[in-house]
Amino acid sequence: MPDALPASLSATPGVRPTDATFADLTTLRVGGRPAATVECATPDALASAVRSLDDAGVPLLVVGGGSNLVVGDEVDGLVAVVAVTDEQPTVVGEDATSVIVRASAGTVWDCLVAWSVQHTYGGLECLSGIPGTVGASPVQNIGAYGAEVSGLLQRVQLLDRTSGELAWVTPDTLDLSYRYSNLKFTARGVVTAVEFRLTTDGLSVPLRFGELARRLGVTEGEDHPRRPVAEVREAVLALRAGKGMVLDDADHDTWSAGSFFTNPVVTGEDARDAVTARVADHCGAAAVEGMPCYPAGTDTDGRPQFKFSAAWLIERAGFPKGWKIREDAPAGLSTKHTLALTNRGSASSEDIVELATAVRDGVREVFGVSLVPEPVWIGVTLQD
Ligand SMILES: Cc1cc2nc3c(=O)[nH]c(=O)nc-3n(C[C@H](O)[C@H](O)[C@H](O)COP(=O)(O)OP(=O)(O)OC[C@H]3O[C@@H](n4cnc5c(N)ncnc54)[C@H](O)[C@@H]3O)c2cc1C
Repeated sequence: MPDALPASLSATPGVRPTDATFADLTTLRVGGRPAATVECATPDALASAVRSLDDAGVPLLVVGGGSNLVVGDEVDGLVAVVAVTDEQPTVVGEDATSVIVRASAGTVWDCLVAWSVQHTYGGLECLSGIPGTVGASPVQNIGAYGAEVSGLLQRVQLLDRTSGELAWVTPDTLDLSYRYSNLKFTARGVVTAVEFRLTTDGLSVPLRFGELARRLGVTEGEDHPRRPVAEVREAVLALRAGKGMVLDDADHDTWSAGSFFTNPVVTGEDARDAVTARVADHCGAAAVEGMPCYPAGTDTDGRPQFKFSAAWLIERAGFPKGWKIREDAPAGLSTKHTLALTNRGSASSEDIVELATAVRDGVREVFGVSLVPEPVWIGVTLQD
């Protein structure tokens, strides 16, 4: 056992020390060497490892696929606890129209989706191709193509890091919202397994996302269109691949953390109109016609909220696909998708920070909108 790890871990079934840097463990491929790394192959192993480290006062970071993480080049003393598994998803309940499927935290997310589609279970197909693990899926309430995992969660098995208790909780305890849960940005709990309720009629969730619906030949006026799950998965994977949103070792456009900034939400009509006016000033009135801006519910005081497209604003603020701070910079925007900040092969975390800061500041200067990063930052922060 490496010195940084409590001796008790060597006797824990399913826990295995390994050797990796955060650059090895993350899809952005940046980040220094942890004090130690342990792989945990089962929900119990994951819970035991975290409990042992917490009891010994050792700082730790739970890592799944490392696809939503920006880790600094110096990470003194931090132990990486990596959730992995060979376990297959299992059906743990069913009724006339649905099944409950359970998967361990370390299950690769897209393996779960592929498995569900093979069994013609409906629900997860729009979330095909998202990197990472099942355990992280509720952490930021993953979503794509009009679907969010919050709509499918039945129960989440959670290790409470304060009490050390492992218990199943219902999704309403997690404050799930757009790319957020109360597990994100905190060390409150570790997800060790997740249960999903999936439909059994072989059809997808209703298709709400225009680009996907068009690709699947949905005609105007079709009410709540649904399609066979395999067809939807295929279409989603093709759309994602075209944007560099399916991991591919050989393609630097996928050496990213996915969408780097969340779509900005502003509160109140005045705030919406202020952004619109800045867009008209900078891009001309015609641009406003094509500007994505959607109602996004209300805040806790009942005020209306509006969501803009981060990618659209970034591009109009002067950061086209492939943009770099300098021609020879080792980090740049993806050549396929403005919203992905990418490592072109030799970037450090500082290069990613420099790029992210330039884009955030540029959008703020031009449109007065403050973009908020989507990934979790460890040992490094966006410059002020
Ligand atoms: C190319 C690409 C495309 C992407 N597309 C999408 C997309 O379409 N939609 C979307 O929502 N996201 C997308 N992402 C972001 C990312 O894939 C998701 O957020 C994913 O759920 C992260 O999973 P992970 O296992 O890699 O988490 P990690 O990056 O390993 O961890 C992220 C955070 O979750 C915590 N965490 C991880 N596992 C657990 C656990 N078991 N319990 C508690 N905390 C945990 C970590 O400590 C960290 O704080 C994309 C990323 C990439 C690289």
